[in-house]
Amino acid sequence: MEEGRVDLHVHTTFSDGDMTPEEMVVEAAKMGLAGIAITDHDEIAGIEEAKSCAPQGFAVVPGVELSTSDGKTDLHILGYFIDTRDENLLGYLKVFREARLRRGIEMVERLRKMGVEIEVEAVLEIAGGGAVGRPHIAAALLRNGCVESVEEAFRHYIGFDSPAYVPKYQLKPSDAFKLIAEAGGIGAMAHPGTSRRDDLIGDFIASGMRAIEVYHPKHGQSDVERYERLAMKLGLVATGGSDSHGRRDGSLSLGACTVPLSTLEKLKAAGNY
Ligand SMILES: [Zn+2]
Ligand SMILES: [Zn+2]
Repeated sequence: MEEGRVDLHVHTTFSDGDMTPEEMVVEAAKMGLAGIAITDHDEIAGIEEAKSCAPQGFAVVPGVELSTSDGKTDLHILGYFIDTRDENLLGYLKVFREARLRRGIEMVERLRKMGVEIEVEAVLEIAGGGAVGRPHIAAALLRNGCVESVEEAFRHYIGFDSPAYVPKYQLKPSDAFKLIAEAGGIGAMAHPGTSRRDDLIGDFIASGMRAIEVYHPKHGQSDVERYERLAMKLGLVATGGSDSHGRRDGSLSLGACTVPLSTLEKLKAAGNY
């Protein structure tokens, strides 16, 4: 029998995806996938729903995609097989959410002082209960007719160095790997081909990184080959996934990038620090 395939990078309505965890599980099972990892941005609340509705034999990997920065580059760190009841991790995610909310409110206040008509309530409504971010503020500005495009909102108001910009509260990548390891998880660098910071990989391994996302829709053939070689050389588990955000992507990209089911055993083995 041919080995099943798993998609280890899936977003849901619990972050910026537009399909619920249940819808993602149902679609993935329909496609014939053997499992998916739920990896919402800075959020783990969708995992329970995915697990509870998974059909017999379908693997739901509890995951997360943490937003971090080394001061120069925004870097996404994936965590797999995390304990969703880990108090440290839950505590951090709560602090992160509150900081994002405060940041959103501060940017709205700055815009209002500049005479721009925008309400906090409208931004929160667009965020739909998820983490508040600049795309939600841009959407509110667009809806009010204050700008003609999201791009203009960023350029005039909320882009880096623009008048209403407020810096993000950011976790350092090394702290993200620690947080994941302490929650019993396995840390992986997400889509390294997009950040182009291979110079950090050595430090990341020292901080507890055990895997790297080799297969990702934004990786070209040369990226895949480079990270396959790196994973082999450095003893990292090669992971991959579609990074699907549901139908928001235009069409459902779920399953566009997958890895063999046996990757899950490799990840678990790599978690024995
Ligand atoms: Zn990402
Ligand atoms: Zn992602």
